[in-house]
Amino acid sequence: MKCDILITNAHVITMDPDNPWAEALAIGGNKILAVGKNADILDLVGSDSIRIDAQGNSLLPGFIDSHMHLLIGCAELDNLNLESIQSMAELRQVLVSYQAIHPEKLWICGSHMKYLTKEDGSLIDKNDLDDIINDRPVVLMAYDYHTVWVNSKALEEAGGEAGDGTGLLREPSQYGKVLAKTGIWGQALSSLTGVKTEETFQPMALQKLIRKGTEITSQYGITSIHNMDGNIHMQKAFLEAEQRDELDTRILISKSIMPGSGIEEIQEAAEMKNLSSSAMVSGGSVKIFMDGVIESETACLLEPYATNARSKGVNLYSGEQFRKIVAACQELDLQVVVHAIGDGAIRHTLDCFEKEPNRNGEYPFRHRIEHLELIHPDDIPRLKRLGVIASMQPYHVPVYGAGDNIWLEKVGKDRIKNGFLWQSIRHGGGKLIFSSDWPVASPDPLKAVQSCLTRLPLSEDSTSQRQEIHAVLRSYTTDAAFAEHQENIKGKIKAGYLADVVLLSQNLLVDAEKAISDTQVKMTILDGRIIYKKE
Ligand SMILES: [Zn+2]
Repeated sequence: MKCDILITNAHVITMDPDNPWAEALAIGGNKILAVGKNADILDLVGSDSIRIDAQGNSLLPGFIDSHMHLLIGCAELDNLNLESIQSMAELRQVLVSYQAIHPEKLWICGSHMKYLTKEDGSLIDKNDLDDIINDRPVVLMAYDYHTVWVNSKALEEAGGEAGDGTGLLREPSQYGKVLAKTGIWGQALSSLTGVKTEETFQPMALQKLIRKGTEITSQYGITSIHNMDGNIHMQKAFLEAEQRDELDTRILISKSIMPGSGIEEIQEAAEMKNLSSSAMVSGGSVKIFMDGVIESETACLLEPYATNARSKGVNLYSGEQFRKIVAACQELDLQVVVHAIGDGAIRHTLDCFEKEPNRNGEYPFRHRIEHLELIHPDDIPRLKRLGVIASMQPYHVPVYGAGDNIWLEKVGKDRIKNGFLWQSIRHGGGKLIFSSDWPVASPDPLKAVQSCLTRLPLSEDSTSQRQEIHAVLRSYTTDAAFAEHQENIKGKIKAGYLADVVLLSQNLLVDAEKAISDTQVKMTILDGRIIYKKE
C-alpha cells in the first residue's frame, strides 16, 4: 500500500511511550500507516503521494481542546469587543462611536467586558448605560460569561424585570431571557442558558457558523474539541456538516442541563450518545454547573470571600439533587462534567461522586470537574482516588488572563496559594486535561502552552505550578482523548491511529520555553486531510 501523505525530516513527538520519537510519518486514507525513520518508510511513497519536508520542526498529534463553546464563540465575533476597555470613560467612547457606525444593529451587543467599577467601588449598572445609550437595547457580556450588564431598554425588550432590576444580571438563569432576544448570538447561547429563543437557527446560518468555527480551530492546530454546551439539535447540525464534508474538527458535544431540568434532558444525552458512532461527532456527556465564578462571588467557597465576610457563594444543587443526576447518568453510561470553581463546590462534587456506589475500576465513567480554580489541598488526592478528571484552562490564571486582580482580591491572600494547582494535581496522581474555554479565552493552544511553561507563582507562599512541555502536551493530546474514551484511536502519532497531526514552525524540544513564544502552526491535518496550511 502506498501512502497519501508522507512527512519527512520532522521532529515527531509521538506521545506514544513505546516509541516516543520519530523522523517521518506516512498517512493513508484517514489513518496513520507508519511512523519511523525517514529511510524506514520511504517505500510507502507512491507517485501520487503528497510529500512534505518538515525541515526539522516539531510534528505533534493534533491539539484536543477539552472545553470550548464553538458556536457561541463564532456568533460573538460580530459583537463589539470590549477586551481593552479599562474605564467608564473608555466604555462611553467606544459605545458612542459603535452605535453611530452601526445604525443597522437593533441591539448593541458587546463581549469580554471587565468588571468596571464606579468611583465608590460599586459595579456599574443600568443607569450608567442608560446615560450612554437609551434608545437601543445594550447588552454587555463579562469576559467570564457569568455576568451581563444591560440598559433599561434591553430589560424592557425582554419583557420587564430580570434579576434585581439593576441591569446587573448574574449567571444564565438571570441573563438568559434578555440574551435570547439578541439574534444569532442568543440562539447560540440558548444551549447554555436553557432559554428557548423565538426564532431558531436557520440551518444555513448554523452551517455557516460551524464553517467559521472550524476555520478558526484548524488554524490553531486543533483537531478535536469538547463542546461544553449543546443539545441533540446541535449535534445533528454537526452531523450534517460532516455529511457535506465540511466539518474540519472532531467534536464531542455535551448536553448541558440547568438546575430544574427534568430527567428527560438526561435521556436526551443518552440519545446523543447513540445518535452517531462516527469518530467525527459524538455525544455521551452531561454538563452541569455546580457554582458560578469567583469574580462575581457566585463560586461556592469553604470560607467567606475575602471581600465579603457574609458571602461564601452557594452550590446550585443539594447533595441529594446532584446524586440523583449522577445516578441517572451512570445508569445510562454517561459521563458527568461538572463546572466547579470554588473549593466548596469542588468538595461538594467530590463528596457526591464518592457516595455513588457504582464505581468499578479506575476512572469508571471518566467524570470530570471543569475549572477547579480554587481547590483545598485535602481534596487533591481524592481526584485520583475517585477517578475524576481535572479539566483546567491555563489561560484563566489571573496574572495572564483578563480581569487581572479581582480573582486574587476575592480569594484573599491566605488562600491564593490554592489557586490553579496544576502541578500539585499531577503530583497527587490526578489526570489533568487542558483547554481554552473559548470564547472566554483565546483558542490558541500554543499561547496556553506558553503560559504553562512560563507560569509565575500567584503569591509569595505559592508553590511552583510551572509545567514541563511533555506534561502539557499530554494534557492536550492523550489524556484529552482519554477523557472522551477515544485514547485508542487518537491523541498519539502511532500506526493505526487517526491521522490528526499538527506541524509547527519550530523544534519545540530544543528550548521549549524560548521557542514557544514565536512558534506557529504551519500545517494541520485532520482525518488524513490537510485542513490548514500557513502560506
Ligand atoms: Zn465553559
